Amino acid sequence: MQRRVPNDTYLARLAVASPGALSLGPAPWLTSAFSSEAAAAFLARATAVRTTDFYTRYGNPTVRAFEDAIAHLERAEAAFATSSGMAALSTALTTFIAPGGRVIAQDALYGGTETLLEILESQMGAEVVRFKTGNVDSLRHAVRAGGCVALFESPANPLLEVTDLEGSARLCKEAGIVSIVDSTIASPINQTPIRYGIDVVVHSATKAIGGHGDFMGGVVASSARMIEQIWERAHILGVFMDPFTAWLGIRSLRTLRLRVDRLNANAMTLALALQGHSRVRNVYYPGLESHPGHAIASRQMSAFGGVLSIDLDGGADAAEAVLGRFTGARRSASFGGPSTLVVRPAAMWAGLSEQGAVRAPPGLLRIGVGLEEANSLVEEVLDALS
Ligand SMILES: *Cc1c(COP(=O)(O)O)cnc(C)c1O
Repeated sequence: MQRRVPNDTYLARLAVASPGALSLGPAPWLTSAFSSEAAAAFLARATAVRTTDFYTRYGNPTVRAFEDAIAHLERAEAAFATSSGMAALSTALTTFIAPGGRVIAQDALYGGTETLLEILESQMGAEVVRFKTGNVDSLRHAVRAGGCVALFESPANPLLEVTDLEGSARLCKEAGIVSIVDSTIASPINQTPIRYGIDVVVHSATKAIGGHGDFMGGVVASSARMIEQIWERAHILGVFMDPFTAWLGIRSLRTLRLRVDRLNANAMTLALALQGHSRVRNVYYPGLESHPGHAIASRQMSAFGGVLSIDLDGGADAAEAVLGRFTGARRSASFGGPSTLVVRPAAMWAGLSEQGAVRAPPGLLRIGVGLEEANSLVEEVLDALS
């Protein structure tokens, strides 16, 4: 059996993946289409599944190199790259929902995903059934009624609830339901849901995968058969990643391990420093023993990611005042980049929060740590709290 190359080594050498190329980086195939010399070759390419030498919306060598690297990291047979995380989620979900079919979804999800479910239900005839995030009994109850897909996010926005991936995958499999996990907050370095039997993994590559705050993209990783099903729909919906973005993605993947290691360490240091702080009611981070999902997270994650949330005394006004006192960290909706970004989820998802669709206490701040030196980051946050 061939020895599996460690992820660090695989990523570090990704740059020389193109055989015969003497350049240290892969050349981006910045072309909209490819030509064929003969009629037969053209016809073969026009009708092939996931072809990379016909038309870039169908596939492109640079995009495929990025997809193959994601599949390797996720221990998946194949991956498909999209223009955003929402494109990845909407394509993955709609591919597996039959007309009038039922979607089983946890009750804590990224705001955009909440709105997507609302659209699926109100405009596309799907039935959406909810279960309590991280609660196996609640999932079992929901699954019993049957459905097409079950949607998880672990760790989840904005309170970092953790789902038992193995137990959840088993329940779905027994019921013939396709399980989908949004693994964005974990990143492919800390968690590989396919190992636990999950069918489809989705990431917003805009976050840690892109990792430089200059990139938007999404990925779906799954079996070769399911990725083909997704491609059949996606290349007609026009949901794909362009080659230049994929080239940037490959650039980013080379340092993914190093960056995620630092994000993990910074978030852990900050979470420990804020635990017990007089102005902080609660620190939500799966790496803390006090977090309800800590035991499961320790089992299925190698580290706990770069996102934590803190609930502050004094509600929205107090939280906004603290946010305003940060000197380097900025108010922004993203995370996983070089610089620490802080957001008040109740403001980011104001409409959804008012309807109760997103459970974000008014005084909650989500902190997506960056690559800063840990002590300077802790000092800045403590200063903002004082
Ligand atoms: C950001 C994010 C998304 C959406 O991704 P985009 O790239 O912004 O479309 C989905 N899920 C989670 C958990 C996210 O953090």
